[in-house]
Amino acid sequence: LNAVDDKRQKAQGIKDSIQTHYDSTMKGGHNVGEPALVHYLTDNAYPTVEWMEKQGVRFKDKIGAATGSLGQRSHYGVEGSGWAYTHIFENVLKKYGDRVEIFTDTPATQILVKDGKVIGVKGLRKGKQPVTVDAPSVVLATGGFGANVEYRQKVNTGVWKHVTLDKSIGTTNINKAAQGDGLILAEKAGADVIGLSDIQLHPAGTPGTGLMQDIITDGRNRLFINTNGDRFVSEGAPRDTLCNAIFAQPGKTYWLVMNKLRLPDESKTNSFGVSMTDMLKLGRVQKAANLEELAKLMNVPYEHLKASVDEYNKAIENKGKPDKYGFIATNTDDAKMVEGPWYACKKVPTVHHTMGGVHINTKAQVLGKDGKPVHGLYAAGEVTGGIHGANRLGGNAIADVFTFGRQAGASAAKNL
Ligand SMILES: Cc1cc2nc3c(=O)[nH]c(=O)nc-3n(C[C@H](O)[C@H](O)[C@H](O)COP(=O)(O)OP(=O)(O)OC[C@H]3O[C@@H](n4cnc5c(N)ncnc54)[C@H](O)[C@@H]3O)c2cc1C
Repeated sequence: LNAVDDKRQKAQGIKDSIQTHYDSTMKGGHNVGEPALVHYLTDNAYPTVEWMEKQGVRFKDKIGAATGSLGQRSHYGVEGSGWAYTHIFENVLKKYGDRVEIFTDTPATQILVKDGKVIGVKGLRKGKQPVTVDAPSVVLATGGFGANVEYRQKVNTGVWKHVTLDKSIGTTNINKAAQGDGLILAEKAGADVIGLSDIQLHPAGTPGTGLMQDIITDGRNRLFINTNGDRFVSEGAPRDTLCNAIFAQPGKTYWLVMNKLRLPDESKTNSFGVSMTDMLKLGRVQKAANLEELAKLMNVPYEHLKASVDEYNKAIENKGKPDKYGFIATNTDDAKMVEGPWYACKKVPTVHHTMGGVHINTKAQVLGKDGKPVHGLYAAGEVTGGIHGANRLGGNAIADVFTFGRQAGASAAKNL
């Protein structure tokens, strides 16, 4: 979760500002995000962190830099991955006892509208039993459409139009969940949808599935190495630049290489809740005591791999100056990679996030094609559009989900 956090960042010597977060979100998104929404996100990301902590979420003190975050402001839960948040909010909901009824396994099938106002939702309980919920306020939080292969191909007219986003490209998303249902429901209820062609690919997909498995890092000090053993891109680049560079490599694949530096102990879990021991068990990570041995396992010339590591270490020495790929060591975590053991894992680009969606304003009200709010309809998270532009920064999704989620809840409670 990206947020400018004076306390934690200062303790680590990280210089940052809300304006820098705003600028990198706009620039990283090719300047097509809506300024008002981006300001709302970057202004309110830290108050959101504080609010989450009040609910019981625990963040690590160490601030990292998610892949393609274009800054060192990523917060990670003490407990791994989304679990750090979800179980806390489940507990908060339990406090409200019978005032909150939760229908699981109940897809919403229609947003009910009468005289231009939302009056409720229809759904199918356990996929069979029709259920209607009367409600003057409905919050749409149905996520993106990264797993809907047909739909993502239909709208792929933007930054990835030169790549066919068919089944040969996997996804990090959960197949059943990320189908984009919410967009269809919202459109039928009068919502405007924007930026659908803004689809994000992530460089850390598992070949064959696209899932994010094996080596997953929540920070820097990992190298992108092609099948010739060469570096080919700035490891600190935005995700679209990284993926475009991978597509230009032999076999459209690469090795993510890291060493002991990132991993003091193989049994220790990273921010995704996975340890190197777990990753090694999956059987796709190559581990070697030294670079020469690693080169053999990767089937790349040792001299190339060695030159790549030396080149990266030189960039660390030249802190603040770009190397030939534009990599600049600025992160307080950037350090030379010297000692083994070394680890390498093959990766490919994978569909990760869909930045387009339902048009909202800073009150998280859903807007119609006329730019006016659809009364009673609110939205937050990946189902919305206009925030991340054509390329989302790593770590900005969770900031978005919770910042606009809070606002959507407040607006819905007031039935704005
Ligand atoms: C592997 C992975 C790692 C990630 N890591 C990071 C990270 O480190 N930092 C970061 O900022 N972002 C990260 N992201 C992105 C971020 O997690 C997502 O953008 C975010 O979780 C989206 O949240 P959401 O609540 O909008 O949607 P989701 O979490 O997708 O939830 C939507 C829910 O709505 C349900 N739903 C869909 N249709 C219907 C319907 N018709 N009726 C009822 N329910 C429906 C779905 O089943 C799902 O449960 C990651 C994403 C993935 C896949």
